[in-house]
Amino acid sequence: MTLLPLNLRQYHWLLIAIVLILPLHIAVADDQKVVFFENDPVPGGIAIVPLDLPDTANAPSVKLGTREVAVVADHGHWHAIVGIALATEPGQHSLTMSTGEKTSTIEFQVKAFKYEEQRIVIKDKRKVNPAPLDMERINKENKRIREVKAYRYKTLLPDTFQLPLEGILTSPFGLRRFFNDQPRRPHGGIDIAADTGTPIYAPATGLVVDTGNYFFNGNTVFLEHGLGLQTFYAHMDKIHVKPGDKVNAGDLIGEIGATGRVTGPHLHWSVGLNGTWVNPWLVIDE
Ligand SMILES: [Zn+2]
Repeated sequence: MTLLPLNLRQYHWLLIAIVLILPLHIAVADDQKVVFFENDPVPGGIAIVPLDLPDTANAPSVKLGTREVAVVADHGHWHAIVGIALATEPGQHSLTMSTGEKTSTIEFQVKAFKYEEQRIVIKDKRKVNPAPLDMERINKENKRIREVKAYRYKTLLPDTFQLPLEGILTSPFGLRRFFNDQPRRPHGGIDIAADTGTPIYAPATGLVVDTGNYFFNGNTVFLEHGLGLQTFYAHMDKIHVKPGDKVNAGDLIGEIGATGRVTGPHLHWSVGLNGTWVNPWLVIDE
């Protein structure tokens, strides 16, 4: 018996069928939104990964490594909202999804992106190369920050997100920084400059997880907005909230200041997802 080769006409139909099926297997388009999250799968960005699970089913547990990732329903099915650390290598990465009945692996792609570089001079040498006594304090603070970043409220509280104040953007997210020619971690937030005392407002509904005075960050507030979506406010002059408070969008949380490691009064504002800092513009409604 011989197999009949597909004639040209049949082949055309096969091609059309493949083209029609293909988009179903591609992740959501770049700049597509789910709730207020924008898809931008680069280091420091957010990957919106559609899950093959209708929203009539219970929300699955999705992990990136050991970290729980936010899962939200949109257009009838569940999506993983993955915060991608700035240090992530571009290429294929995977999530683990557990529904209770089964565990599966879901792949997603991280694209390359090169952030700008900046070199600045800090006069207070102790803030660049801290003394051993300072290191003790810094290590204690880092432990506390890790605990705060691991805190997670069970549901996503806001459905919209605004900037915490109007000001001049002086330093963008992801900037690769050198202090006195020494490489430092890339900028995990945006800097908004304004006069000392300028009010800072909650950008969305949230819970105050922690406040305190930190060596580098000065007077600091951490908010949790649910599912591990957090915002972080540093270098404040005054803090007007306390741990345990619930805030609504537009509530006064503090004032612009110049506390901690700074060159002038500004707010350092970070947005966290699954314990990593992501580009704040990917959650802001513009
Ligand atoms: Zn900053």
